[in-house]
Amino acid sequence: MSDYSVQYRGTDSSGRGIYMTAYMADWWERVCSRLGFRPTIIQGAFMARNGGGASASAGYHDQAGCLDLRVWDLTADQQNRLIRVLREMGAAAWRRDSRHGMDPHIHLVLGADSPLASGAAYQWRQYLDGRNGLSNNGADYEWRPYPLVTTPPQEDPMASYADQLDDIQDGIDSILKNQAKAQRQNAAIRSKVTKLVKKGNATRADLEDILAALDNEETA
Ligand SMILES: [Zn+2]
Repeated sequence: MSDYSVQYRGTDSSGRGIYMTAYMADWWERVCSRLGFRPTIIQGAFMARNGGGASASAGYHDQAGCLDLRVWDLTADQQNRLIRVLREMGAAAWRRDSRHGMDPHIHLVLGADSPLASGAAYQWRQYLDGRNGLSNNGADYEWRPYPLVTTPPQEDPMASYADQLDDIQDGIDSILKNQAKAQRQNAAIRSKVTKLVKKGNATRADLEDILAALDNEETA
């Protein structure tokens, strides 16, 4: 069950509170780790808690799922990659600028977050339909995953794969360590018994010594 409780995540570049659901915060961390850098959030979700979002946002940010990201400090390659990763991670994301009547930024809608404001839900449906999420309902002008990712992948599959390999390696190390220990014990017991055979008789203390060795005591 996803946790849609609203969290405060610091302040945006204008000093307003950044709010998002726990679900989206977790998603955002996965996005950043996949990117290898942390884009600056210039507007969070639940802007109603800050007294409403920017008027150009038309209420999209008043509830869950919407973030605006700074672009001026990113190279064109970083922006392309950011759009790609956001979309691969299950969000609609578009670069907006003066051509759309806005200051340059990336606007994203995480469709699986909840609850979306009606405008955000409409943009998400536009994204699914291959549209640009604007009032002119034009064609999507950004890179689109095929097939479209509508539910965020829960974790980076390669990171999870690497973790599993680490666990397997730890298991093998532990088995090899135990095996080496068992071989040393075996050799120690063998040497005690060999000495007793040479001696020709065994005292109670000798037998107790062997029992102790069998009971897992590492002896010299
Ligand atoms: Zn926005």
